[in-house]
Amino acid sequence: MPQLKELLVEQLQDLLHAEGQLTGALPKMAQAAHHPKLKEAFEKHLVQTEGHVERLRQVFEMLGEAAEPKPCKAMMGLIEEGKETIGEGGDKEPIAADLALIAAAQRVEHYEIACYGTVRVLARQLGEIDAARLLSQTLGEEESTDFLLTMISEPLMQQASLDDMGASTDLGATAEIGTSSPQSPSRKKKAVKTARGAA
Ligand code: FE
Ligand code: FE
Repeated sequence: MPQLKELLVEQLQDLLHAEGQLTGALPKMAQAAHHPKLKEAFEKHLVQTEGHVERLRQVFEMLGEAAEPKPCKAMMGLIEEGKETIGEGGDKEPIAADLALIAAAQRVEHYEIACYGTVRVLARQLGEIDAARLLSQTLGEEESTDFLLTMISEPLMQQASLDDMGASTDLGATAEIGTSSPQSPSRKKKAVKTARGAA
């Protein structure tokens, strides 16, 4: 087999194994997510990931090669870390647990983005334009998923900041007025303003 085609096939075998593992991991991520938007993002990406496996099979067919997965140790490691993140989430506040899930998921998406960038360029170089187009579609979905995860993380981070500030202000307020009642929203807002003014 010509060396570039052999290289492409090897990369695709690695990706096929990686994507196959993800179809098993994403339902667990969805189950662990607290925020409905994050849950929904994982569920939606599971459906997309099943499509990624299907596209890879089509690419193998276009190349006239068998769709044989080759163990992808990198993805096995990333999924192992994802499992750890899910396990540790029980000891965290829901928002922090969700942010940790997003961090684990974005590592996975970035890994896939790197892989699909490589196989797309190899397919183009080999003149396999239809294969390159399919790989490009998947690459686009990995990139939008990464972007969506960033979008979901932003309000969560804002909320975590407010909670952290509220918690530190709360301690002072409790000592001052001798009550443990929860902080009022207006006081929370003031705390944010002060923090912004100081920045
Ligand atoms: Fe994928
Ligand atoms: Fe993905």
